[in-house]
Amino acid sequence: KQAAWAALRDVEPRTKDGVRVTVMMNAGLRDDMPMLSMTGADGIGLFRTEFQFLVSATLPARERQTRLYRDVLEAAGDRPVVFRTVDIGGDKALPYLRHDDDGDEENPAMGWRALRVALEREGLLKAQARALLEAAGGRTLNVMFPMVSEPWEFDAAKAVFDAQLKWLKGQRKMLPQEIRYGAMLEVPALAEMLDVLAPKISFLSIGTNDLTQFLFAADRANPKLAERYDWVSPSILRFIARVLKNVEGKGVDVAVCGEMGGRRLEALALIGVGVRRLSITPASVGPIKELLTKVDTREITEAMQGWLANPPASMRAELVAWASARGI
Ligand code: PEP
Ligand code: MG
Repeated sequence: KQAAWAALRDVEPRTKDGVRVTVMMNAGLRDDMPMLSMTGADGIGLFRTEFQFLVSATLPARERQTRLYRDVLEAAGDRPVVFRTVDIGGDKALPYLRHDDDGDEENPAMGWRALRVALEREGLLKAQARALLEAAGGRTLNVMFPMVSEPWEFDAAKAVFDAQLKWLKGQRKMLPQEIRYGAMLEVPALAEMLDVLAPKISFLSIGTNDLTQFLFAADRANPKLAERYDWVSPSILRFIARVLKNVEGKGVDVAVCGEMGGRRLEALALIGVGVRRLSITPASVGPIKELLTKVDTREITEAMQGWLANPPASMRAELVAWASARGI
């Protein structure tokens, strides 16, 4: 198996019927970067910038942020990197960044976190915007905002970048060649507003880790619930299919960057609903590329349409049977 995955390292991921699927990897530290060439991933579809904050005893100075982003872009070479602005707060609380009227939150996952923190503590987002814009001088910068719940939050975050860009222009600093903005889709409410959001963004990344917990109202960190809600449940797959349909033809790249994309049966289901971009844990890149070579997209699309129209008792059982009948 390992040899088969390694052999695919330098081969573009394609399905059995020749459909090109973009298989990127998730990262968060400098040390993750060598995995890009080791796995042959198409790029970094999710760089979790909060890792630098989480491993630091104090707020990382802007220069340190710039250095990290520059090193990451350098290491990635021609391959794209999607930087997600900090997703801290909530359960990733930092001792040096506290809510004013603190006290522990009862529901940190749906509390003061991610963009909610960044928009309130504007200095934080300003520094990060400047660091990213400077680090990507002369290159393409892909920026993504986490936990966007309403389109105005995207606008407000982008405005912070616009202001920093203007400042850098005034300083005659080297600017990015191109800046692409995107949003995480992990709060279900945003899915109802894609007609408003789509014209503003270049890409959307579905974060199925958070999306699932919000769709099912089931804490992603509670082991008691881990087995209860299945990533291949018809509700999640219908949801993702609808998101794809709602942005179709609008020039928005849609990826899935949650953990589910790195699991074989889940990836198969995602291909079945029309997902063609994945960002997954590095160890899954080889296995998923290998899986794709065995999948005929027309066949799985047809099967999935049938299952989603008339949900079976167990989607997982259907997928297992479908896969094993094809030697997958
Ligand atoms: C997600 O929510 O699916 C995601 C990719 O982000 P994180 O796991 O960092 O919350
Ligand atoms: Mg998330």
